[in-house]
Amino acid sequence: MSNIGSMVLQMLKNEISEVDYKRYIKQLHYNEEDSKSNLAIFHAPNPLIANWIQTKYAHKISHLFEIKTGVKPTVTVCVKTGNIPLTATSAPTTPVQSEKVPHTLLNPSYTFQNFVVGGSNNFAYVASKSVSEKPGIVYNPLFIYGGVGLGKTHLMQAVGNVMLAQGKTVIYTSVEQFLNDFSRHLSNRTMDRFKDKYRKCDLLLIDDIQFLSGKNQIQEEFFHTFEALRNENKQIIITSDKHPKKIGGLEERLKSRFEWGLVADIQPPELETKIEIIKKKCEINRVKLDKEVINYVATIIENNTREIEGILSKLNAYSQLMGVDINIEFARNVLKEQLTEKRNNITIDTIMEIVSKELNVKSSEIRSKSRNSNIVYARRIAIYLSRNLTPNSMPQLAHYFGMKDHTAVSHTMKKIQEIMKNDEDFKIKVDELSNKISAITSQ
Ligand code: ADP
Ligand code: MG
Repeated sequence: MSNIGSMVLQMLKNEISEVDYKRYIKQLHYNEEDSKSNLAIFHAPNPLIANWIQTKYAHKISHLFEIKTGVKPTVTVCVKTGNIPLTATSAPTTPVQSEKVPHTLLNPSYTFQNFVVGGSNNFAYVASKSVSEKPGIVYNPLFIYGGVGLGKTHLMQAVGNVMLAQGKTVIYTSVEQFLNDFSRHLSNRTMDRFKDKYRKCDLLLIDDIQFLSGKNQIQEEFFHTFEALRNENKQIIITSDKHPKKIGGLEERLKSRFEWGLVADIQPPELETKIEIIKKKCEINRVKLDKEVINYVATIIENNTREIEGILSKLNAYSQLMGVDINIEFARNVLKEQLTEKRNNITIDTIMEIVSKELNVKSSEIRSKSRNSNIVYARRIAIYLSRNLTPNSMPQLAHYFGMKDHTAVSHTMKKIQEIMKNDEDFKIKVDELSNKISAITSQ
């Protein structure tokens, strides 16, 4: 595999049906020469295929680039005719149709059915669901905010997918796309078309609105778009990484309008929700993982749920390559790198701090020789987590915890593994703490 484009397509292969891959994706060629880190260009043999892939998979392809490179590019699928690449979206059979069907790029798998509901996201889920049932009536705008990878885009697009299926006009856009569109129409003197497009849709989804910060001209334009849509009772959904009040460099009139409808937050998922999300992603991507591997993956991912798909395709790709099933040893091996990176950020002191706070036992007690059962319980967990989450060797751990030598550590590790096998509550507690520690140290 020579370039990033083909690597991404290879990853995509593991996530989609074989028929889709063979019939469409396989015919794509990555244009390495003209692509940039924020723009990935692919060539398709004809407009039909280009259009189809653009609509169905551009978002996913972009997502996979992000997993590989850390940058989420705009994906353009074009038909190469001489030197002029004809983009799929600008090559409709009739121009009229293209104006009617705006560039939505909704990910078809971002549906309510595919969204796992837990305490951390229940509020945002219920709000989105209500909006999809009564758009423009219940909460307008709906403003969803929360950290990266917590499902904001998924939820807003789920509403989009519902309305799209009802034949409504849905526009999904980022601030950047909105701005580009605006500049293009401004310089082409076609602002009326811009207005038509954004002010006449049934649902406008604007993702990551925090990027409006400091961009005055586009804030003005967005304000008028917002007003026009709201006056017509057309639904607007906005996402952001923070509460409207906390977005700096934003006009007050916009901030206040963002709070007119409903502001819903999404919190990092609890362990059980993470487990359910992994199960769901396995189902969608047709990856088979047993319970042990699922629990393991849940404890190594941080709050960013986006990591899950990357991990699943990595596991799947390796297992296909090696021709073996994915069991826990295999998963540990494949994901070793991922863990090593994290391990280097975690220290025993951090673990001690969290364990002592969560279990209400002093650090000095954990390091003492006390046989009090609460203290022994906390000490075991601290040793186990230190061994698993930090790069410290057994002799180093023995020294830290005031134990005789490395065999004492090894004995404790065995003992804990045994308890974990028989005591589900204990295991959940250990996983939960491990999760907390990873989350804190990854911030
Ligand atoms: P955000 O926009 O908040 O950064 P995304 O919506 O892009 O996050 O979500 C990142 C990934 O995690 C997506 O693949 C999404 O489907 C998945 N995801 C996040 N939360 C959930 C959930 N509760 N149920 C199912 N998938 C989820
Ligand atoms: Mg998002």
